[in-house]
Amino acid sequence: MLQEKLLKKISNFARSTFVPITEDMDGEYDSSKFSGIPWLSQNEEWPICPNCHKPLNFFMQLNLKDLPTMSHLAQLHDSEGLVQLFYCTNEDPHCESECEAFLPFSNSVVVRLVDIAGKKPQKIEESPVVGAFSPKRIVTWEKEKDYPDYQELAENNVELTEDEEDVYCELELTVFGDKLSGWPAWVQGVEYPNCPECGETMQILFQIDSEDHLPYMFGDVGCGHITVCPRHPHQLAFGWACS
Ligand SMILES: [Zn+2]
Ligand SMILES: [Zn+2]
Repeated sequence: MLQEKLLKKISNFARSTFVPITEDMDGEYDSSKFSGIPWLSQNEEWPICPNCHKPLNFFMQLNLKDLPTMSHLAQLHDSEGLVQLFYCTNEDPHCESECEAFLPFSNSVVVRLVDIAGKKPQKIEESPVVGAFSPKRIVTWEKEKDYPDYQELAENNVELTEDEEDVYCELELTVFGDKLSGWPAWVQGVEYPNCPECGETMQILFQIDSEDHLPYMFGDVGCGHITVCPRHPHQLAFGWACS
């Protein structure tokens, strides 16, 4: 009864989210994948951390043409290319804290849209990253229903009673773990960055949780988000938070 009432109350906020299903191998250069070898253009250097001058760890890549339809990012579907995320995992120096990599637009993080139309990738046999993670190719996506967490609901003027909040958590209405689109599972409250170009609130593209497809822990079991401007697909950000 309470559950039905609750679901009715939040029904307008339902979005689809897509959980990646992977296999343990690297894909093509232009595949959607975690780790492995990224698509780099022929004369390009592997992205380097400006703090420690070591190659950045390649976290993931999404080929826009592989992605299921995301209702809140219509404009992104008019674009082509690869969204890539590189992140410095060097602990000596500890670039993550020195560069405040939990905040969007940190300089030890590269998140970008790469145009590959008509271009050939660089042939790279082996990752130059010391301790690179083993590759996981994204084979398909499993669709699930997703709702904003209670903090984001409150920002949208939907107040839950205490009982409703309990049911909300019990049902895990906000999907945890790695996922495409949907709603962010916020740890420290709603933290969408603004687009540096137009000031618009950026939207979730991908959630990277600690120790899911990547064997990496953001702080103390933190959760990270790649966000994108709904109007400017090349404006991307990555940030994370932990409790
Ligand atoms: Zn570094
Ligand atoms: Zn913008």
